[in-house]
Amino acid sequence: MTLTETDLAPLEFAVTKNLAAKPAAQREEILRSPGFGTSFTDHMVDICWSTRGGWHRPRVQPYGPISLDPAAAVLHYGQEIFEGIKAYRHADGSIHTFRPEQNARRLQRSARRLALPELPVEYFLQSLRELIAVDGDWVPSGEDQSLYLRPFMFAKEAFLGVRPAEKVAYYVIASPAGAYFKGGVQPVTIWLSEDYARAGKGGTGAAKTGGNYAASLLPQAEAYENGCDQVVFLDQDRNVEELGGMNVVFVRKDGTLVTPHSPSILEGITRDSILQLAEDRGHAVERRAVSLDEWREGVASGDIVEVFACGTAAVVTPIGTLKGKGFEDAQPSGTLALELRQQLTDIQYGRAEDTHGWLVRL
Ligand code: PMP
Repeated sequence: MTLTETDLAPLEFAVTKNLAAKPAAQREEILRSPGFGTSFTDHMVDICWSTRGGWHRPRVQPYGPISLDPAAAVLHYGQEIFEGIKAYRHADGSIHTFRPEQNARRLQRSARRLALPELPVEYFLQSLRELIAVDGDWVPSGEDQSLYLRPFMFAKEAFLGVRPAEKVAYYVIASPAGAYFKGGVQPVTIWLSEDYARAGKGGTGAAKTGGNYAASLLPQAEAYENGCDQVVFLDQDRNVEELGGMNVVFVRKDGTLVTPHSPSILEGITRDSILQLAEDRGHAVERRAVSLDEWREGVASGDIVEVFACGTAAVVTPIGTLKGKGFEDAQPSGTLALELRQQLTDIQYGRAEDTHGWLVRL
């Protein structure tokens, strides 16, 4: 019998409490000003997978180093995928996450591309719940703060042959995150990467896999050298793809929102949600190829009235300048990006009605 996701029995997690968990005072100190990605909660979740045993040995254990064989395939061939999702504390103290089934499905698509096993959606959701059950006190309650959850999966089999690993590990760790923009949202300056691509046709661009981010580091360094905050990548036909960690949206004078559609970009859940909110307000939405020329000419002619980037970490960020070799285009500024940002964060933090049923209580 093949199990469909709905008849999967829940996993039974073995829970080992961290006897050296941070004292409440130290945790509160961290939560006052968490920054991003530097502090971690007291526990982590892990589930093993093997070709013979399927998903097994689900555990909640103290956060700490992972022991790996030096021949573990991930260290050599990069067979790895991950997700990024936030948990939000509402005014009544309850903890919610946002469209987690979308992250679960994207992790499955990434897994397919990287020849890793597909974690059932139910197990993904359960893994987040198990971690929040022990580390819920780590979800901060300050403005624009959240607990960033990082599920990831990698090939742990010790084998140097190039083939899909037969032993895999799935983990979830969590890191408190402060407001991305201190002192209000600031428009970003974007560097146009012409010498480097993030993804190619038929490549892994649509998967959330470490190699894509490794490939973005050198162009990102080039962006910093040119006084820019982020990189925008093009495809081989000079169509706009995305930033290193955010999708791009253009607003036209007639109110239409246009966003690149391409098989080699990561389908952002923030973008999908923002576009839905815009459609609810009566805006038309187009998902199609957008060339660099269309962008630059649209800004020059006044047909494009706003450009913004969006993703889980920063939510929505207006793009203030596009800079490339030999040019610098100031981008038009409008109010729609920040209105949509406010509307989305109001839903995430429980300040507005969740009309689409996007929140899941953890
Ligand atoms: N593109 C890339 C390359 C990303 O890493 C991210 C962040 N996950 C996004 C887009 C935005 O996706 P999401 O809105 O789901 O965070």
